[in-house]
Amino acid sequence: MPAKRYLMTPGPTPVPPQVLAAMAEPMIHHRAADFRKHYGECLARLKQVTCTESDVLLFTASGTGAFESAVVNLCAPGERVVAVTAGSFGDRWVKLAQAFGADVVQLKYAWGETPQAADLEAKLKEIGGAPVAFVVQSETSTGVVSDIEAFAKVAQAAGTTLVVDAVSSLAAVPLEMDAWGVDVVISGSQKALMTPPGLGLAAVSQRAFEHASRVKQPRFYWDWEKTRAAQAKVDAPFTPAVSLVIGMNVALGMILEEGLETAFDRHVRLGRATRAGIKAMGLTLFSPDEDRSAVVTAVNSPAGIDSGDLNKILKDKYGVTIAGGQGDLKGKIFRIGHIGWFDLFDITTTLTAIEIALAELGADIVRGTAVNAAVAAFQA
Ligand code: PLP
Repeated sequence: MPAKRYLMTPGPTPVPPQVLAAMAEPMIHHRAADFRKHYGECLARLKQVTCTESDVLLFTASGTGAFESAVVNLCAPGERVVAVTAGSFGDRWVKLAQAFGADVVQLKYAWGETPQAADLEAKLKEIGGAPVAFVVQSETSTGVVSDIEAFAKVAQAAGTTLVVDAVSSLAAVPLEMDAWGVDVVISGSQKALMTPPGLGLAAVSQRAFEHASRVKQPRFYWDWEKTRAAQAKVDAPFTPAVSLVIGMNVALGMILEEGLETAFDRHVRLGRATRAGIKAMGLTLFSPDEDRSAVVTAVNSPAGIDSGDLNKILKDKYGVTIAGGQGDLKGKIFRIGHIGWFDLFDITTTLTAIEIALAELGADIVRGTAVNAAVAAFQA
């Protein structure tokens, strides 16, 4: 295994040295004033990144934990809810809501298709409305990014509380929670927020808090009111992941210093560069060839090549970790993440390694052009 490693997956993602250094500081007590300073700043910055005046509730959990908080606060057992699903994470929310007794109506697409807000409008009409709908902004398993502004309009008009999975998209592509009228935004630390795994967050609108207050469903750790009440006093109801909060505060500061718009533009150009390099090699894209597909690029594995073999050579021989396909796409696609602490050289390194590894596997690819194409696309 090479000593130098390159992490090119859509989560966990590389963590900047400033963040790692902050996390390596000696432990402090979570009720002491010095921690509260980090905590209060971190909570305020999360609001800025989520574009909301509402509370962003922070949980010691992965993104799925924060998603479970949405289900137990918003879904009463037996109640009908809608889940828009076009990949692995949409499917997860179906199973999660079903586990808590919800009657889940699926608006189901083939993996790789882009969900449409008009279809949610039609589905809600067909079933006579639903109190809650779940939708994924960036379906990490396929590389598709959906138009959340359009989904929010439909949900608002129907009186449906919209929960958006922005685990891989927050701070990578635009999501204006308040301006678009999104009720709940879920995310996690280990993607574009440039922090190790372990923090989940739920940004909750006033309307969603009111909705939650009417829902009878057993909850304790995930009870939004417990966390909201504690955070109002710059406190946490349970011991928070002190080092992760301190690290994420630094990461959020870096994101805000770059500026959200600049960060979104960088992600667009990283996506363009990746797609241009892949196409220059003669490979075909599985994810859409469009600017908003700026989180992860999914590529069809060349004929006769199992993407698992490619990933193994990349990792074991060249120290480059990319992601494979999930579910039915296992072996058929590979995925290059470009969210968070990424620049052009991460993309050119990855493309070069893929080119070398595919040539070793005997794939029929064009060599020597991917990097030029990527640089040109990034700089255009
Ligand atoms: N939703 C999306 C879109 C994701 O990419 C992930 C990450 O793997 C999750 C949900 C699940 O998050 P976690 O693995 O942090 O529980």
